[in-house]
Amino acid sequence: MKLYLDHAATSPILDESLRVMVDAYREAYANPSSAHSFGSDVERRGKQAKKNILKHLAGKPKNLIMTSGGTEANNQMIYSQSVKSSGKAACFLTSSIEHKSVLQPLEHWTPKESVHLLKVGRTGQISLEHLDEILEKEGKRLTFVSLMHVNNETGIIQPLQKAVEIIRHKSPEAFIHVDGVQAFGKIEVQDLIRSIDAYSISAHKLRGPRGLGALWIKNPDKLNPLLHGGDQEYGKRSGTQNSPALLGFEKSVIKAYENLHENHQKRLAIRETIIEEIKSSIRDTMVIEVKDQQVPGILLIAFEGVKSEVLLHSLETEGIYVSSGSACAARKDEISHVLKAMEIPLEWAEGVLRISFDETMTTEQILYLVEKLTEHVQKIRKWVKR
Ligand code: PLP
Repeated sequence: MKLYLDHAATSPILDESLRVMVDAYREAYANPSSAHSFGSDVERRGKQAKKNILKHLAGKPKNLIMTSGGTEANNQMIYSQSVKSSGKAACFLTSSIEHKSVLQPLEHWTPKESVHLLKVGRTGQISLEHLDEILEKEGKRLTFVSLMHVNNETGIIQPLQKAVEIIRHKSPEAFIHVDGVQAFGKIEVQDLIRSIDAYSISAHKLRGPRGLGALWIKNPDKLNPLLHGGDQEYGKRSGTQNSPALLGFEKSVIKAYENLHENHQKRLAIRETIIEEIKSSIRDTMVIEVKDQQVPGILLIAFEGVKSEVLLHSLETEGIYVSSGSACAARKDEISHVLKAMEIPLEWAEGVLRISFDETMTTEQILYLVEKLTEHVQKIRKWVKR
């Protein structure tokens, strides 16, 4: 059996979205910037696709700047706010559990001393007390905030409504960006959108095409381009637009939100069954979660006395594909920065698996996963004891 349980790394494209893209590549292939009517038709259809995506965000097509993915959206946002691009002195705030596509550009474009790193509690949620403390000192000087909506390793939803309230109160001038790559299409984001300035999304995390994402921005005048050239995307992101992929993305977003509640409930039931079955078959396990603040499709579970890389590769021999943390950190033999920030004890952190799935996972697949997990965890624990 082939069992792909790494949806948080990337999700398989929906058949319907793929069909829409194939048709568009065949029939609607004109460049949307071309002066002829074939080009204008493609441009018009692209705008309509943006409008349909924006039904779950806010604003008009000019508020949604298409990029090559979440990484580029985050990079552009951070670059745009850096001293190099904006000419303004920078005083930034982010958290210690952000995705590398936020942390690394910050490191690259901003002096270390102008970035404040918000701590997280053991629960994996940003500390609002620490936020208060930082803003007490830096309140008026703070220029830019970048925080994630849902963490990609734990699936834990961050308390952003409260954080934004505090920031707006103490740092009214600060620009607030949210990395919504793991949230969009999994939860409603419109309430949050109303109170922030920018939001990054990515198509391949919600069963859309690879290599397409977007930056939603309330006031596009505040965004500077990272790529210069033909002035596409309202001059904010040059490069011939991938119109067929945009139509695929539109379809995936429509589908994700059409069935949001139903899919959430199905994923929750699958999650609960997996946890129950694992707990009844394998001793010394720990689920890392915040029960009512969790996207159910990401399950982070630790097995004491087991190295996650060893377990990951043993499961691979059974056709089961999971992750030992985030895909970016997974190839490096080290504890992820998220688990470190959460102060998960080493003996647990070393044995963490991320199992990420969607609502299509069947009972037969759950039972196969748990059977193989039990077998391999026991085998590895025996080897380690010897
Ligand atoms: N932000 C988060 C929270 C992510 O999980 C990811 C991808 O794993 C990204 C950003 C980067 O997105 P993309 O793969 O579309 O570049």
